[in-house]
Amino acid sequence: MTNDNPGHVCPYCETLNEQDAGFCRKCGVALTRRCPHCDTVNWIDDEHCTQCDAALDILEWIIRRDNLGVAGRLNEQMDEAGQIKAAETAASQARMDRMLAEERAMREALRLRLIEQRAQEKKTLTIVLSVAGVVLLIILIVALITAF
Ligand SMILES: [Zn+2]
Ligand SMILES: [Zn+2]
Repeated sequence: MTNDNPGHVCPYCETLNEQDAGFCRKCGVALTRRCPHCDTVNWIDDEHCTQCDAALDILEWIIRRDNLGVAGRLNEQMDEAGQIKAAETAASQARMDRMLAEERAMREALRLRLIEQRAQEKKTLTIVLSVAGVVLLIILIVALITAF
């Protein structure tokens, strides 16, 4: 087991760890492995046992990493799906709130418009009536004048 590396790259998550770290600081996986021949503890990135020089099966690590990678990605996707669902729920709630607010605003606007319309109608009616009154008065005056 040598310690001359600048650090050890985790075979699972590829995080660079301190050279004397026994476990990955990110995913917690052991950064050492025992030689299947002499049981010496080697760093996982050692290709050969530092004691007996037996080839350490890094392929096994790669396969395990890839399997874990798939599982990890699946978990991530599930997490993401959960987050998306939560976001969607929040979004639909927000949408609902917005729609209700819009409807309220629309009703308020309609109410104001109706009030305005009635006021306008009243004003128009008043004008029409006054004009009619004036016209009637003029006709009356003209009739009186022409009568004499
Ligand atoms: Zn790791
Ligand atoms: Zn060995």
